Amino acid sequence: MLQIPWKTKGIVLTAPQPYKKEVQDVADFIERILAPSGVNLVVLQTRYRYRFQKHPECMGYDPLSYEDVQLLLNTCRRCGIRLVPKMNLLGHQSGLHNTPSDGILHGHATEGVLDYRDGLLRAYPMLDELPDQDTGFYARHLCLTHPLLPSILFDLMDEMLDAFAADGMHIGCDEAFNIGQCPRCSAKPPHILFADYINMLRDHLAARGAETMLWSDRLLNSAEAGYHAYESSANGTDGAIDLVHKDLLCCDWHYETHDRYRSVDIFADHGFRMMISPWKNLDSSRKFLEYAMEHDRGHIEGYLQTTWCSSGELARHYLYGAPLEWHNTPALVETLNSLFLSPEVIHD
Ligand SMILES: [Zn+2]
Repeated sequence: MLQIPWKTKGIVLTAPQPYKKEVQDVADFIERILAPSGVNLVVLQTRYRYRFQKHPECMGYDPLSYEDVQLLLNTCRRCGIRLVPKMNLLGHQSGLHNTPSDGILHGHATEGVLDYRDGLLRAYPMLDELPDQDTGFYARHLCLTHPLLPSILFDLMDEMLDAFAADGMHIGCDEAFNIGQCPRCSAKPPHILFADYINMLRDHLAARGAETMLWSDRLLNSAEAGYHAYESSANGTDGAIDLVHKDLLCCDWHYETHDRYRSVDIFADHGFRMMISPWKNLDSSRKFLEYAMEHDRGHIEGYLQTTWCSSGELARHYLYGAPLEWHNTPALVETLNSLFLSPEVIHD
């Protein structure tokens, strides 16, 4: 296990699937595997998979009930872990389904389905930035200037904050490739659209006493930072780095191996706090974390490990030795075992 000098050790878990009866397993995984490894933050990738009362039409497939969330929340509280819900509030408004009755789980589909849209765009297709274009299965995108958008989003965010009794929310906002494409949005430069939108969400959360976390790739200029156009922006949003509120917690994700991770310096130069977010590749994860430790000027709050597999899959593996299911999970497990988890909780 890598010893980190930062106050936060967090992990992003996909919300467990009630349909597969895996909520209790994931609670046990948190209590018996993550807590003894020193984890003090769980970011639950929930998207729209919650049984919303005010806008039930926006529910994603296989939503968590209020009681499911309370089980996870009470487990986290008992373990001294902060539980923060994560929604995708810009791009990634679509994804492949595992089965028609399951949640949208990134990367798990074995066969295609006709409608890739997540809950919000299924209920309100007019909020799609490019409703008549094929943007790829995972890249449907919200129209940031649609007058209906803020009121619906604020209702959904409020209900999520209430259910999780949360003092923070991760708003996603990564890989927003289709920003500013519709006739109304294209009147504004992408960095203005992006900054205004992020600040609007941040102000709403701040008024509720909640911190805003986001994936910060759209704030990095691809040419300056030296990352490709997924891990950084080549679509004109990066100027927003000078316009968004400084209390955003930037989750700096990089999954490729680089000689330098210049974002660590760029966010510090601009006065932001950040978390270091690797994924499955052990070599890349180690290099990124070591670079960050070496170059930290006091702006790094923590290590936020991403997973992207089913949390139930991880739980069953670590609790019962169940075989891994997704082709990316074995590499992730190697990284978790090497860097993230305490040796005492890992069995052969
Ligand atoms: Zn638009």
